[in-house]
Amino acid sequence: MAEVCDELSRMEMVLTSRQPLTRSVQLMYRAGERLGFKRRVVDELVNPQEVRVFRIPCKILGKVIIFWGVMALHNNACGPFKGGVRLAADVTIWETVELARLMTLKTAVTGLEFGGGKTGIRVDMQEMYRVFERTPRDREFEKIISLDAVEYFSQAYRDTFSNHHYIPAPDMGTGPDEMAFIYNETLDPASVTGKPDGTPGWLPGRRESTGYGCCFVTLKLLREMLERDPDGATVVLQGFGNVGQPLARFLTEEGVKVVGITDTRGGAYDPAGLDVEALIEHKARTGTVGGFTPRSLTNEELLALEVDVLVPAAGGHVITADNAPHIRAKGVVEAANMPTTVEAMDILTRRGIVVIPDIVANAGGVIASMEEYSRSLSASRLSKETVFRIIAERIGEALNQAQTRAKEQGITLTEASVEIAMERVYYVMRSRRLI
Ligand code: GLU
Repeated sequence: MAEVCDELSRMEMVLTSRQPLTRSVQLMYRAGERLGFKRRVVDELVNPQEVRVFRIPCKILGKVIIFWGVMALHNNACGPFKGGVRLAADVTIWETVELARLMTLKTAVTGLEFGGGKTGIRVDMQEMYRVFERTPRDREFEKIISLDAVEYFSQAYRDTFSNHHYIPAPDMGTGPDEMAFIYNETLDPASVTGKPDGTPGWLPGRRESTGYGCCFVTLKLLREMLERDPDGATVVLQGFGNVGQPLARFLTEEGVKVVGITDTRGGAYDPAGLDVEALIEHKARTGTVGGFTPRSLTNEELLALEVDVLVPAAGGHVITADNAPHIRAKGVVEAANMPTTVEAMDILTRRGIVVIPDIVANAGGVIASMEEYSRSLSASRLSKETVFRIIAERIGEALNQAQTRAKEQGITLTEASVEIAMERVYYVMRSRRLI
């Protein structure tokens, strides 16, 4: 009985209640009003096409471990459902739907022939350590868990991927290794993006693509909107993983000083600019950026540092109404998905702090995915430089269009980007008689 209750409660953790009024839902309804869209039309753009809740029993190290998850297929008017697979302890239906909706907006605003989707698998590493009676932290052990979870997940959804109905990619908690396991299951190079170097259909530069795109927008923000020379400008990063590490490298190459970085377990601060290469090496060895500099740095301190640009590059909802009044950066680049709440966004706008929205700022990953997907059957590879150039062009164009519209209508870049994306999806839905 105890076990039955446990199973039910795990399932219920995914099956949470009513659709909340999330950031993208609020932004889309506000945009719908400005665009003169009927309420019914906005509902159709907001609501997901299909949401699958799944249970995957995995055989891991001799035990049966059950993971629950959600595959949110939001909108495929413009192309196949596209978006990453996230492994996290706090996955819920509506959070996954929200992330899938963001993918629809992201692919639309950057003009990609993809729709929006997302998968969340509820994997709680702390719980795994308890179940397998393991201490201390062991990255090999965590890799076994994540690879097994993704392997069983890809067995269950092989046809969905092979039909290119939904094309997965890396997201929080996954990377090229996990994508290789999806490829192993489908043996179709176009069925998954973010595959490791050398795997059929891989793309040079895909691994650093999101970081590259974020660097591009940070430089554009500094030069064009803050009128600041990147050489010597100061940036702080929250998060030092798949996105933060390449981003810090690219910024340093441009002469930008990355003065503070935090992750979930610590922080490093150096007003003269952190040694990014040494910090990457330190994090690989210790698992955190903490302990690298004599002075540590908390997340709260990082958010309040007086710098040119603040880059949240980890989880969502980190810039809130509570901390937004203390932010002293002149601009924010949303490298993470939805790091700023709507209330915080309004505060930042009132305070004159420019925000580059996630759907443009972190689109480098999915732009590279488009290249990886569409070229996957060819054995001739693009160069990394070409991939980066394509990212810069696409993001640059999206940002220019958003800037023009924002200026014309006296709205923020976020509002303008959401409007552009909604118009594009609506137009295609109309043409295809989907609405
Ligand atoms: N997970 C990334 C994102 O949120 C990439 C998605 C993809 O390439 O499909 O944009």
